[in-house]
Amino acid sequence: MAVTGVGNRIARRPVPAATASCVRPLHHQRHGGESKVGSCSGRKQRGGCFPGPKAARGEAGADPEEVKRLSAENAELRARIKELEAFIEREEAFHVASAEAAVEQQLPGAVEVAAEPVDFDSIPLPTPSDEKPFWESIPVRTLSATSGSGGAPAKPDGFKLNVVHLTAEMAPLAKVGGLGDVVTGLARSCTARGHDIEIILPFYECIDEDLLEDFKFEFDFDCPKGCEWDGSFQVGSLKTQVFTATCEGIKMVLLRPDWGGDCNIFKGGRVYAGSYNETEAYLYFCRAGLEFLKVSGRQPDVIHLHEWQTSAAAMLYWEIYNKDGLHKPRVVLTIHNMDNTGECRAEEFMATGMLGDAFNTVEKALDERTIGHNPERLSLLKGGVVYSNAVTTVSPTYAVETSTGGGGWLSGTLAEYQQKYHGILNGIDDVMWDPSSDLYLPCAFSKDDLSGKYFLQRYLRSGLGLEDPASDDGSGNNRKPLVVCITRLVPQKGIHLIRHAIWQTVKQGGQFVLLGSGHADGDFRHLAENDFKDHDQVKLILGYSEALSHFLFAAADIVLVPSIFEPCGLTQMIGMRYGALPVVRRTGGLADTVEDEVTGFTFDGTDEGSLDVALNKAIDWHRTRASKWEEIAVSNMAADFGWSRSATMYLDLYRSL
Ligand code: ADP
Repeated sequence: MAVTGVGNRIARRPVPAATASCVRPLHHQRHGGESKVGSCSGRKQRGGCFPGPKAARGEAGADPEEVKRLSAENAELRARIKELEAFIEREEAFHVASAEAAVEQQLPGAVEVAAEPVDFDSIPLPTPSDEKPFWESIPVRTLSATSGSGGAPAKPDGFKLNVVHLTAEMAPLAKVGGLGDVVTGLARSCTARGHDIEIILPFYECIDEDLLEDFKFEFDFDCPKGCEWDGSFQVGSLKTQVFTATCEGIKMVLLRPDWGGDCNIFKGGRVYAGSYNETEAYLYFCRAGLEFLKVSGRQPDVIHLHEWQTSAAAMLYWEIYNKDGLHKPRVVLTIHNMDNTGECRAEEFMATGMLGDAFNTVEKALDERTIGHNPERLSLLKGGVVYSNAVTTVSPTYAVETSTGGGGWLSGTLAEYQQKYHGILNGIDDVMWDPSSDLYLPCAFSKDDLSGKYFLQRYLRSGLGLEDPASDDGSGNNRKPLVVCITRLVPQKGIHLIRHAIWQTVKQGGQFVLLGSGHADGDFRHLAENDFKDHDQVKLILGYSEALSHFLFAAADIVLVPSIFEPCGLTQMIGMRYGALPVVRRTGGLADTVEDEVTGFTFDGTDEGSLDVALNKAIDWHRTRASKWEEIAVSNMAADFGWSRSATMYLDLYRSL
């Protein structure tokens, strides 16, 4: 298998690379902000990135020094392109091999559940003046591991791996964005194939215990934790309670620090919204996760880490635990988003019970941007990249983007370690996100019968107080597109484009619903309370609601994702699964999953004009090409966005280490 080859190239114990041999992206060396390499990573454009033959040979009057400099630069660019081509080839081979393996295993895809004929008239329509919003009246329901909706379990693999995920999020227990979905989807897919998967999660105070089955307290242990006392480093301990449970059919371990005394780690009404110091909290959690594995006698094959929050576990594992109690595991780190790289002062690292000085070099975890600052700082994500046996990110395009300049200052480290760096496209959990059996919806629909979708549009419009442009063709369908955007409201998501799209949709005769939460929600609050208060074409809902998100995906004609950058993006895939056509900016995973005028509509620029072209076209197609629209919607619903293929790639990667 090709992936075994990939594994052979990965050192069993990851060793920080020598700086001398490292290949840095060129923009770090010469070009200031702009990366020339980034702009010519596509092979087709290669010619355009080089000076023409005349310039290379030196025209009459050219400065010989300049010619020499350009030649050297040219040679370096060629070498870099060769490396990138090799990287892309390796990635392609990796993807082809895993796709073949997935087909060989004949993994079942989504479970098709024939929708019972529904008497829509028997379902009462909600109104905005109902005592409770309609999406809050849905009882909490959870899935089983294997299928959840009555289908057959996946076929077991011929091998069994024990994988432990250490993560800050898990859907639906503690979900803020895609990280939670991905951890749950991957874990469910691997569990269904017979692997022994466990998720270790902080026991946030906000966790809804109703979502936990077989919930029990197991034991407590003393987790080493350092602090500064009288100007010197002291190692103490923090009592940590271990609870086990299952959630969505996955085995869970929840770690709770002793909240007696003045410890408030993981306390608060929301994930990431407590009044504790997050760096300290997740450093403690990394140590607690490893200490738990040691004291419970576990020796998993793989410890799978996610994001900066759990990256320090890779560092602690190789510095402490691999020599003391945990000899078997290999470490995989998945980067879901490089927005936050986990900046941390060396002395803050002592929350792990170990001083950070051991990692304070460029080859290890020093954040190069802080060299010469007082104090210099560590980057936990960089430490995770250096110390993990394999590093993945969530789409092939984002893997190339991030190792060729789009990863900001960390691009250099990712380029240096590109032998162990892979882009594996996220899937969506096709049982959790299945319009034919969605636990949140009052009726089902499928690609063979969209009448349930059209009813849910009426239902949603009625519940939100939007005008119902009932059609006169008797189908319950209509030609006023419902555009939805379900997102964290942070700059990455293209806030100015979302804001503009609201007005543009109304101008074009469509309807717009936003479900968003995040620190950049100020403008939208203003719009919601003023311009669009009680509006019959626009509803702006600022907050987080898993239940409402299901209704919105089900009712959507168009799902908007205008991100400035997007490692993978899930909402475009979920939207397609529910028969919507996405309008997306062509970046990262959005570029990998949406094809212009085939499955949706794409645009490139970050300006409003670029968005308008794609959005106007989508609204126009919806209005004037109804049968083509439905054909695409149905074909989107039939597409395979499930985890089978990507889980195969992760399992192959785990096995190769
Ligand atoms: P990111 O991880 O950057 O937030 P993704 O598109 O990968 O973006 O994943 C977002 C996930 O979070 C999707 O499942 C989406 O439905 C969900 N989501 C985002 N914002 C909200 C919200 N306000 N309410 C409910 N679900 C949300």
